[in-house]
Amino acid sequence: MILMLLGAPGAGKGTQAVKLAEILKIPHISTGDIFRANIKNRTELGQLAASYINNGLLVPDEVTVAIVEDRLSQPDCVDGAILDGFPRTIPQAEKLDAFLESIGKKLDVVVNIVVDDQAVIERISQRRVCPNCKATYHLGHRPPKNGVNCDACGHEVVLRDDDTPEVIAKRLKEYHSSTEPLVDYYKEKGNLIESIGVDGIQESLDNTIRALIMRNA
Ligand code: AMP
Repeated sequence: MILMLLGAPGAGKGTQAVKLAEILKIPHISTGDIFRANIKNRTELGQLAASYINNGLLVPDEVTVAIVEDRLSQPDCVDGAILDGFPRTIPQAEKLDAFLESIGKKLDVVVNIVVDDQAVIERISQRRVCPNCKATYHLGHRPPKNGVNCDACGHEVVLRDDDTPEVIAKRLKEYHSSTEPLVDYYKEKGNLIESIGVDGIQESLDNTIRALIMRNA
C-alpha cells in the first residue's frame, strides 16, 4: 500500500508516519528527513536544500521528485511506503502519479491531517527535536523527561532551524499557496480521507486509523 500524509507543517505528519510505518510494516519516506540528513552530512544536495528550507521555501520540484523516485525504487518499498511531506505541489503530485504508474503501482490513499494555523504556530514553536535520533517532543504536552535531553538517546533536544516564528510564517504561506491545492487534486481523484489532527499523538493516530478503516469498510 502506498499511503501519503498531507497537512500543514506541524500537523503531526511525521509523528503519525513513524507509527503507521510500524503498524503497516512498510518504510516511512520523509523528504524533510532526507534533506536534513544531507544538510547534516554537508552534501551538495544538503547545501542546496538548506538555502530553501531555512528560508521557509520549498526545495525545487525536479530535485525533490528525483529523490523520491530513487527512494521508491529501493527493494524495501516493494510492498509500499508511507510518504510524509511529499508531494507538496501539484507538479510533484503529477510526477508521482506518472512514476507510480510506470512501475505498476498507484497512490492508494491520501490522509489529510486537518489543523488550523493557530494550532500549527503554537505547536511548532513548542516543538523540539533530537538531532541524533529524530525523536520529537512538545515542551508543553510531551517534554523530554529532564526537560533538556532526548529520552531515547540522551542527546540535547533543539529547535529546528526552520521552526523559528519568521520561518514558520513563510512555511504556512507556502503551504496555503502550493500544497493546499492538493486537497482538491486528491478529492477529485477520490483517494482523499480526512483526519483531525489534535494535540495528543495517540488520539490523532486513532482518528487516522478510524478514517482508514471506514474507507475500507
Ligand atoms: P518537513 O520536515 O516535512 O516539515 O520539511 C521541511 C522542509 O523541507 C520544508 O519546509 C521544505 O522546505 C522542504 N521539503 C520537504 N518536503 C518537500 C517537498 N516535497 N517539496 C519541496 N520541499 C520540501
